Amino acid sequence: MPGTVLEGGESVEIAIIGGGIVGVILAVGLLRRNVKVRVFEQAQGFREIGAGIAFTANAIRCMEQIDPAIVTALRTSGSVPTSDGNEDDPNDYLRWIDGYNQLREDDPYYQRMLYKIDAGYRGFEGCRRDQFLEALVKVVPPGVIECKKRLEKIEEQEQEKKISLKFVDGTMVEVDAVIGCDGIKSRVREIILGGGNPASYPHYTHKVAYRTLIPMDEAIKALDDYKAKNQHIHIGPNAHLIHYPVAGRKMINATAFVSDPNPWPNDKQMVAPGSREDIETAFAGWNPCVRNVVNLFPKKLDKWAVFDLWDYPAPYYNKGRICLAGDAAHASSPHHGAGACTGVEDALCLVTLLKQVNLSVQESGLSKRKALSLAFETFNAIRRTRSQWLVNSSRRVCDFYHQPEWANPAKWVKAETCFEELKDRSYKIWHFDYEGMIKETLKGYADREAG
Ligand code: FAD
Repeated sequence: MPGTVLEGGESVEIAIIGGGIVGVILAVGLLRRNVKVRVFEQAQGFREIGAGIAFTANAIRCMEQIDPAIVTALRTSGSVPTSDGNEDDPNDYLRWIDGYNQLREDDPYYQRMLYKIDAGYRGFEGCRRDQFLEALVKVVPPGVIECKKRLEKIEEQEQEKKISLKFVDGTMVEVDAVIGCDGIKSRVREIILGGGNPASYPHYTHKVAYRTLIPMDEAIKALDDYKAKNQHIHIGPNAHLIHYPVAGRKMINATAFVSDPNPWPNDKQMVAPGSREDIETAFAGWNPCVRNVVNLFPKKLDKWAVFDLWDYPAPYYNKGRICLAGDAAHASSPHHGAGACTGVEDALCLVTLLKQVNLSVQESGLSKRKALSLAFETFNAIRRTRSQWLVNSSRRVCDFYHQPEWANPAKWVKAETCFEELKDRSYKIWHFDYEGMIKETLKGYADREAG
């Protein structure tokens, strides 16, 4: 198994289920700390979609702590700040703009800037998911990641025995511990919490998303130079449109979100065929800038039902030597743009713990089973409330964006009272004290180890 054997003893052997962004980042961090790890991914290969993703400066600092090679992979995959900073003001901002109203007869494209929050220098960096994952996978030595391995069962033997993993192809693997990074439809979560438990499955948030990438020159024609080159969230009644530059500023990533009062027909299938007409209808009567962008979406495109884990949050992320991280633990709707960032924080917590586990096993003679269970118990205590807060907060901010009041000038002042809260919520994500988390993690584990 890859991962160097430490002087003084063998490393624990970890299986990560799922080779998404969080699973691969975690594997890189474990290898750097000489923890033996294998990643089992159900897909044939790495198949992230070509949509964009943005990381906060704080999440990028966490990546740096996990392994600086992750930040290099991000930057070589074409990540760019989401604002087109200049010498006068190089910072990134979140910008909310009135997407609905047409306020000036002489300039129908005019949009009222509603609110702006300063995220600091390179406060966000946006990239294409497929390009980032591809660069990330190159950091991992050959043999660590195995594709076409869909987890079916986990059998935990009594006491000091290994855990057996059974895959759909009939093969088995034995390891000391399992970390489920298998995303929103996690099989590991279902195994930990039990089949039939509503917390084992995601639920519909009553929002649908349509995503596309648009060449920058076309985006400039649709929006204007400034708006195209800088992140904006166009808000209005029952829908919003977000975009930011990606791919070295050659494209913008654009996503339209629409409220849907109806139930989603199929809980197992979160993507359905959609068309540009769906979003044209949702954004009919909006500001012409927004309608111009909508016209640049492909005629046929996927309609993504937004599911999350908010209705029934997981009561715990750990069971013995099995643990959940990333979306498997706390899949969120994407309105804070921070689901993956929170998964990166999880990875930092876990690499800190598993390094300590190896030390306990090799130096204090603690059994692998005991040390791993204590580590995952600590992870649950440190990470669960913050990550579940994100799921809750993301739903709340989308409700702010979709307030019907945006269509009624007499209610604008009321609608705008949301921004102070949006600022506080954003700051809680951006200014997370990850150094404090590392200290708390080490103390939590040491206290448990001491009994
Ligand atoms: P995933 O990326 O879902 O990976 C899970 C992996 O596990 C997959 O490769 C899957 O094939 C594999 N798997 C599943 N089941 C099994 C099994 N049984 N056996 C083996 N393998 C299995 N977050 C941000 O931080 N910033 C953003 O800007 C942002 N924008 C977003 C926009 C949208 C529209 C959406 C929907 C989400 C956005 N997010 C964003 C959230 C982010 O995409 C997720 O939080 C992140 O991708 C989760 O990564 P993960 O590795 O935990 O899970």
